[in-house]
Amino acid sequence: MHLIFDAGSGIRELGRELMAEPAQQLHLFITHTHWDHIQGFPFFPPAYTPGWEIEIYGEKHLNKPLKSVFKGQLDSEYFPVQMEDMRAHLGFHHLHGESIEIEDVKVSWIRVEHPGMTLGYKIEIEGKKIVWIPDNEFLKGHLDPLDDISRESDVVGPYLPLIDFVTGADTLIHEAQYTDEEYPAKVGWGHTSVGNACLLAHLAGVKRWLVTHHDPTHDDAFLERKLNQTRQMLHRLGSSVQVAHAYDGLTEYI
Ligand SMILES: [Zn+2]
Ligand SMILES: [Zn+2]
Repeated sequence: MHLIFDAGSGIRELGRELMAEPAQQLHLFITHTHWDHIQGFPFFPPAYTPGWEIEIYGEKHLNKPLKSVFKGQLDSEYFPVQMEDMRAHLGFHHLHGESIEIEDVKVSWIRVEHPGMTLGYKIEIEGKKIVWIPDNEFLKGHLDPLDDISRESDVVGPYLPLIDFVTGADTLIHEAQYTDEEYPAKVGWGHTSVGNACLLAHLAGVKRWLVTHHDPTHDDAFLERKLNQTRQMLHRLGSSVQVAHAYDGLTEYI
């Protein structure tokens, strides 16, 4: 069984690989419908192939059902093929409550800090926890040093539900899009600074943190320096979190 989280450009390559398997049911969870999280879907080969069943989960965006957003990006102004031409079964599901179970996997979700309605997901399987939060501005607007901040600090209070949600994750996949130097100019853009993201991983006591959703203006050399800063910050916090950068095609065994 495959669970897929978001449908950015990477879902095209995934779809090509899946086509080597028999037609089957897929479960696609969407954090939010900004372009970078849905724009790969029109290029997802299983969607065009009879026999595949794609169940798509997400929040209803204001007054717009999830299906309308997916259908909208396939309007003929944007794309030559419309949703009616997709031969797979497409099921759209608005998430209610806190979690669902699919076979032996529990998927739960939480609202995070990002423009529009955006979710983070937790996947629990065989006692392991993986958390996927690609877009989230943790400690929004917090620019001060972090050394003395604990779960009891006032600034952390509004974020305790999120910290609890993440706590104990074997793998946290979470952004740290801006360096601490860049962040003051980007407050409110919906993304976390390196320092604030380190604090989240540390307070939640995650084992391993994969940093994702890199800023498109950061080249490889910049990202390498940013990863060093991330390691230094975790060290300063006295954290035992292992950190690495996520990249296209990365496989992790948990
Ligand atoms: Zn977004
Ligand atoms: Zn995004």
